[in-house]
Amino acid sequence: MQYSVLLCRKCGQPGACRNGSKTFTCAYCGSRNTASGCARILVNVESRDVPSVLARLKSARAGSCRKSKEINWTGS
Ligand SMILES: [Zn+2]
Repeated sequence: MQYSVLLCRKCGQPGACRNGSKTFTCAYCGSRNTASGCARILVNVESRDVPSVLARLKSARAGSCRKSKEINWTGS
């Protein structure tokens, strides 16, 4: 299953939207977004890659230089 990474229209945080889904709910502010109305920054992201992609975007946006400590969302 593949996802697109969209930016929430309300808070600007990245969120994953399943391909084919018309809406996604922002994990940060809970705002419901229309997929077609959001800025799409990545497409065709494999579901297993979504957590690491979001973590990378988050750390990039925070201006962090720490490369060795990526957040492990999956726990594997
Ligand atoms: Zn939001």
